[in-house]
Parts: sequence; structure tokens; C-alpha cells
Amino acid sequence: MILKDTDALYQAIVDKDKKFEGKFYTAVKTTGIFCNPTCTAKIPKQENLVFYKTTKDALMDGYRPCKVCKPMSLSGKAPGDVKILLQEIAENTTIKFKDYDLVKRGISPDKVRKWFQDNHDLTFQDYIRIIRVNHRFGTTKIGDSKNGKKADKNTIVITKIPTPFGTMIAGASTQGICMLEFMDRRMLETQLNRLEKYYSSNLVSGISPFFAQLNIELQEYFGGSRKTFDVPLDIKGTQFQEIVWEALLAIPYGKTNSYQDQAIAINNPKAVRAVAKANGDNRIGIIIPCHRVIGKDGKMTGYGGKIWRKEYLLKLESKA
Ligand SMILES: [Zn+2]
Repeated sequence: MILKDTDALYQAIVDKDKKFEGKFYTAVKTTGIFCNPTCTAKIPKQENLVFYKTTKDALMDGYRPCKVCKPMSLSGKAPGDVKILLQEIAENTTIKFKDYDLVKRGISPDKVRKWFQDNHDLTFQDYIRIIRVNHRFGTTKIGDSKNGKKADKNTIVITKIPTPFGTMIAGASTQGICMLEFMDRRMLETQLNRLEKYYSSNLVSGISPFFAQLNIELQEYFGGSRKTFDVPLDIKGTQFQEIVWEALLAIPYGKTNSYQDQAIAINNPKAVRAVAKANGDNRIGIIIPCHRVIGKDGKMTGYGGKIWRKEYLLKLESKA
């Protein structure tokens, strides 16, 4: 949850008031870092800050924990072995931990799991995964004069886009939008890797001319006034995926199809499972409306962006 009482919260961080520790977290839009309210690093301008109720909220919106105040260790209250793990993850953001790796260090995987669940409402594995993804929004930015990195024709620019249903990550090539996914999607990291593969590209956070249009159109969509999207798309996948995704684009706003209908639509009536799989591999959520495919019995079946969102999107579309 984003907290709105920003003047009072800003005053609390100016005062470094210890009684607010654990009560909220401060995220800095310009750096992608979040902090305890008492962080000793230089206090940013108020307009660059977002205030979150929990660490999970900040992480899910793409922020990384500050290395100075270490908000994940709860002002130093985390047990020693957990602190060591947090430190290792902070230093090596591509690190992977299996239970076995913890046991080798003499750390109980159950204890670690429980601590993360109790204190951050996340599993340990979720945390590592989120850190790896959020790390992609590093400080190097396209169009940032200080870092001076220039987009070449292969660069995919990524950004975060707030929506009423949580933060999305958008990607754009020079041709158009090539990704739109919810940040909390379990498969997000896989999708980012595929993006790099299909476009032979590195992902760099920054600004694309397509993002402004995407933002406006998404707002209109969520407000119920937009039924189709005009922002250019750059769709790349296997041949089969591309056929399935094109068929998704043909499902009108407010309508639903079954996986069987979709298999028939691509003249491959037996490929129901493969169609379902390719649906799940869709990287441009909402615009390529994979949420409009439901089970034969009308059931809400799997949706990478979570079932409650699928239900909400369909309700939104049926109302308008
Ligand atoms: Zn800090």
C-alpha cells in the first residue's frame, strides 16, 4: 500500500524519528532504492519519494533495499544468520539459494522461510527472485546524461507503470511495445530472459517514446473508456506463439473464448494444451488479451497476472 500522508511522513524522516521504524518505508523514485524512515543517507526531495506501508509493497513495485539502512533486516533485529544471507544477496543480486546451500552454511531452511514469511510476508525464494528482477532496473538509464548510455537498435528499454491493479513492467523496442507484465508475476524473470533472447538485446531502464502513449491508453482502458489499443506492438515469439497471440488479438473486448475455441480459430483443433501454454507465454498482457480465454465450463483458469486480476479485467470489460 502506498501511504498518502506524505507531509507527515516526510517530517518523520527529516526528524529520523525512531518510533516510525517498521511502520513505513521510503522509496526513492530516482534511484530505485527503499529505506527505513531513519536512514542516515542524504534525504531526497519530497517529490522524489513514495511511502510504502511494508517492505513487500516497495519490493513489488520494483524497489531494491538500501545498503546503508538495510530495511530488510528490520533495523538490525534480524537474526545473525539471516543478516548474513541478506548481505550475500545484496552483494550478489544474481545469487540463487537452494535449501541445500543453506544447510551447507549451517542455516535451517525452515527457520529462514518462517522468518521471511513472518516479517516480510514473502517466501525466501520470492525475495531472491524479486531482487534479481528489480536489479534489472539498475541506475543506468537511456537518455540519462550522466551515464551517457545511448540506445542502439537492439536495446529494449524497460520501465515501471503504475496501474490500479499493481505495478506493471513495460518494455519497448524501437518498433513498439514488446512487454507488459505485472511485477509480481512468478514467471517475470523467465519472460525478461526470453525478451533478451528474442530481441538479442540487453534490457536497460529508461524512457521510450511509446511509453507515454501506453500510459495514457492503459489509464483509459482501466477507466472503461478504451476498448482497443493503438500503441504499436513489436511481437516476437516462436511461429506457433505468434499465431496464437494473433488469434488472441482477434477476441473482441468484452467477449471470452475457451481454449478449445482458440485452437479451432487457428485451424488446429487438437492443440488445446499448446494453445493454453502459448497463452501463458504471452508477454504483452492486457493488450494481447490472454485474460479473455477461460475454461470450457466458464471457469477462470490460470492467469500469469493472477486470477483475481483476470476476474477483475473481465468484469471491467463486461460493464463498459
Ligand atoms: Zn537507507
